Amino acid sequence: MALIVQKYGGSSMADAERIRNVARRVTKARQTGNRVVVVVSAMGGTTDELIRLAHEICEQPESRELDVLLSTGEVVSSTLLAMALRSLGHKAISLSGAQAGIQTDATHSRARIRNVDPKRICEELDRDNIVIVAGFQGITDELDITTLGRGGSDTTAVAVAASLGAERCEIYTDVQGVYSADPRLVPEACQLEEIGYEEMLELATYGAKVMHPRAVELGELYNIPILVASSFSDRPGTTIRGGISMEVRNKVRTIVHDLDVAKITIVGVPDQPGIASAIFQPLAKASISVDTIVQNASIDNITDLTFTVAESDLTRAMSLVEPVAQSIGARECVSDANLGKISIIGTGMQNTPGFAARMFQALYEAGINIQLITTSEIRITCIIEETRIKDAVRALHKAFELDKGKR
Ligand code: ADP
Ligand code: ASP
Ligand code: MG
Repeated sequence: MALIVQKYGGSSMADAERIRNVARRVTKARQTGNRVVVVVSAMGGTTDELIRLAHEICEQPESRELDVLLSTGEVVSSTLLAMALRSLGHKAISLSGAQAGIQTDATHSRARIRNVDPKRICEELDRDNIVIVAGFQGITDELDITTLGRGGSDTTAVAVAASLGAERCEIYTDVQGVYSADPRLVPEACQLEEIGYEEMLELATYGAKVMHPRAVELGELYNIPILVASSFSDRPGTTIRGGISMEVRNKVRTIVHDLDVAKITIVGVPDQPGIASAIFQPLAKASISVDTIVQNASIDNITDLTFTVAESDLTRAMSLVEPVAQSIGARECVSDANLGKISIIGTGMQNTPGFAARMFQALYEAGINIQLITTSEIRITCIIEETRIKDAVRALHKAFELDKGKR
């Protein structure tokens, strides 16, 4: 008997009717003879609403309390799905992340899973139950509740699949699969039949919300195929897996954008050893990810240092960087939150010249100014004004001929 892990996102669980729809889909998987574990997100909009509520109560909610509060969203949806399954005549039980053995570190609001102890899940499967696990949450060694970061239920699902040695992990969402660009922005975007872990990781890291980056990382680490498909139709989705040939696809496969981008520039920094370390150490300690870093050539031993962080981290980042900038004698520290990131991605770009030139030409023709550029072997990213992101995605999708049928 195969064991599969299915995950249903917030829009698939948005109201009672949709939860009943999920229950019917889970039932189908069960009836074809599989043992089924389901991971659920909170009902759509719940997490945002709980965050809003917390901020109404106080300006800076304490992270431990906020995690307990946010974890309740997934607890609610898991219990409702268990009830829906029982009312269809199936044996089902809901488990919180802690009950399901999701053990994490203590970094509240972005905790990492250290281990999954699947004992309780296995016991419930042996009792013939469909097991519903509340996604996005875990528990520390000190028995404090943590959350895994926005979109983290995907990561719960793949971690649970890995710990159970599941055949595959199925991620059900509100689009048919992974597309050549966000289908909400580019109606001509086409669905990919399959994509390798490496490309998918860049896609997820650089803004495609459809999968949480750490879920893709775990999938690759434990070699678990991940199916991304719609919970509203039976059309085949996109499979994320290893072993996809790189050489045959000598092209850009996807265009990705991210609006959660802010830039910090420290102006007039003395150009001497130890300065970068003094600036970036406190950010690392506070678990703030820094992405693009550019240091200008120095004039008279004075330089400018620019880097990007997530817009949602900007206030915290500025409060850490400003005192350091002052202490090292920098002139000033300025920020800009109205930015976005646009990336072209494809393993076929490796060692092949010309992609950057084509990207810059297309952005130039659309009248879009590039502020910063970064690259990896399979990605080129430009930081541009947030208001131009939509135009940029469409221009690049066209320039790289991605809207020409299923690929
Ligand atoms: P869920 O609530 O099911 O976890 P998410 O909202 O987190 O769903 O992710 C699905 C969304 O990801 C889609 O509605 C789509 O707008 C967005 N998305 C962004 N880029 C892509 C892409 N390349 N392919 C598919 N979906 C994408
Ligand atoms: N409910 C959480 C969020 O909205 C986690 C998730 O949906 O995966 O980010
Ligand atoms: Mg999601």
